[in-house]
Amino acid sequence: MSPDLERLINLQHAESAVADAQARIAAHPQRVAAADARLDEAKAVVETAKQRLKANQEQRRELEKGAAVYQGRLAKFKEQLSAVKTNREYQAMQHEIATAQSELGTAEEKVLEQMVDADDITADIKQAEAAFARVQKEIDAERRTLADELAAAERELAQAAERRDTLVRETPRALLDLFHQVAKARKGVAIASATRDGLCSVCHVRLRPPVFQKVRHNDEIVQCETCQRILYYVPPPPPVETPVVHQP
Ligand SMILES: [Zn+2]
Repeated sequence: MSPDLERLINLQHAESAVADAQARIAAHPQRVAAADARLDEAKAVVETAKQRLKANQEQRRELEKGAAVYQGRLAKFKEQLSAVKTNREYQAMQHEIATAQSELGTAEEKVLEQMVDADDITADIKQAEAAFARVQKEIDAERRTLADELAAAERELAQAAERRDTLVRETPRALLDLFHQVAKARKGVAIASATRDGLCSVCHVRLRPPVFQKVRHNDEIVQCETCQRILYYVPPPPPVETPVVHQP
């Protein structure tokens, strides 16, 4: 293969590796943010359940205060009952007592409901906290993986950039200009192999026979007439020799 063509192929590999590593580095903050968001979400579930418990306890205290008021009223009425003089007053007092008792019963029922709800909410909190602990473990592992991946991408970027810079120094100026011009027009891919049946492997257009013939020799710079990419050819591997078995 012509050394220039080989350099351009290697340059393409290096450029693609640089672009790939750069894309992975650029995606890193977003991936970390996504992991953090998942953890925040699990935390928010715990917080919401805790808020519900707090509201439940506040409501319960209010209901208990109400119940105490009805209880006080009831005790007062009962005391007054012994002091009434007429039957009418007695009946009116009995009525007041019945009302206060019914109100007290309702308030006590509501307190009980709040207590049952509190048990459910406490179970919810436990469940949410267990889920949060699981997610936290996962996210901790994910953060370590992400940090390792970032470090690997940075290493690969440095290595690929070094390979690229060496190749750029070794490649004739005119060829580099051609390479960069095609790469710019073709989303960073300036090189394409020709398939064995004579197609450009990237744009899939059939090469004219004389063009394919030249490409197969791999000894000059030939561009695809359709996508302008610089072409090279990978010959098929030599046939595997099957051992001849001699009949005895
Ligand atoms: Zn092409």
